[in-house]
Amino acid sequence: MSNYEAQKIRLAFDGAPKAALLIIYTGGTLGMDYNDEGELSPLDFDHVLSKLPILKDLKLSLSVISFDPPIDSSNIKIDQWGDLARIIEHHYQDFHGFVILHGTDTMAYSASALSFMLHNLNKPVIFTGAQLPIASPRSDARENFIGALEIASDYKNGAPIVSEVCVFFNHLLIRGNRSKKVESNHFDAFESENYPTLAEAGISIDYNFNVLALHDPNARMTINTQMDDSIVVLKLFPGINKSTVGALLNSSVKGVILESYGSGNVPDEPWFLNQLSEAIENGVCILNVSQCSGGKVVQGKYQTSGRLDQIGVLSGRDITTEAAVAKLMYALANYQNKQEIKTFLSESFSGEMA
Ligand code: ASP
Repeated sequence: MSNYEAQKIRLAFDGAPKAALLIIYTGGTLGMDYNDEGELSPLDFDHVLSKLPILKDLKLSLSVISFDPPIDSSNIKIDQWGDLARIIEHHYQDFHGFVILHGTDTMAYSASALSFMLHNLNKPVIFTGAQLPIASPRSDARENFIGALEIASDYKNGAPIVSEVCVFFNHLLIRGNRSKKVESNHFDAFESENYPTLAEAGISIDYNFNVLALHDPNARMTINTQMDDSIVVLKLFPGINKSTVGALLNSSVKGVILESYGSGNVPDEPWFLNQLSEAIENGVCILNVSQCSGGKVVQGKYQTSGRLDQIGVLSGRDITTEAAVAKLMYALANYQNKQEIKTFLSESFSGEMA
């Protein structure tokens, strides 16, 4: 995507707009409809607009940049995360906030990736989408989209209330790198098990000011879009065997997200620990993340995780797998030596872990 030109949406209302927002339309169910084969596929942003005459009542100045063509988010690529970051950088001074319309399937990954790519962010970047297409009478698209626009335009004493990357879905505002898609059928698609909800939209939008990222008016936003995709997620299951683990660890991967059991437990059989240890000695970075969505990895709590610290497996503590994927890709692309990678992965960079 090379054209970052924003198109102003013509909305007739009286008086001055309350705020100027940029909508980045990537696709997703929100803007889909059924094709001739009876499958949902993305339509362009004009289709979304035609279903939302009410937008003018928000009295906002809205502009849009669309992915061309819009995509199902299962097709999102690292380069497109870079596009999102570059669009925001390019238009940063022109808008009060940014709303990214995105499919729900990989929204948590994209929101996490942007939370690492956008540095010193001090404006709202709100991801949203829908479980039902906007053309469907019972769709959740309208509420999600309008709620996201309201939050992205909410300023207090001249400063944005939200100055981080978030997901707004089904009335809840969630930190982007804490979000997880947990539901593919009901409207409550996203959860943040390990961090409180940032706001809840009822009759008014009730912000949880104690847990929002602090706004720093002097911060200068910069971006870094480098990501290295030579990683793999190794999800443990009872019966996982030596050749499967060996095949994954001996390939060209530079980083592994080890999805362990419970509070970071793994089989403590020698063949398994030796394979991890050898991979680490060969320069592979291994980050331990729990299969549970709530709670955290505590290496050494049980005997079955007792040797992990010793052999150099890093604890992801309470990070989600989605945020861990983005963080590991970012770390491998931006830090050369092992110690720097280790330090970066062990500290919270943008509120992704405790
Ligand atoms: N497959 C769709 C997507 O992620 C699902 C959705 O938007 O809800 O693009």
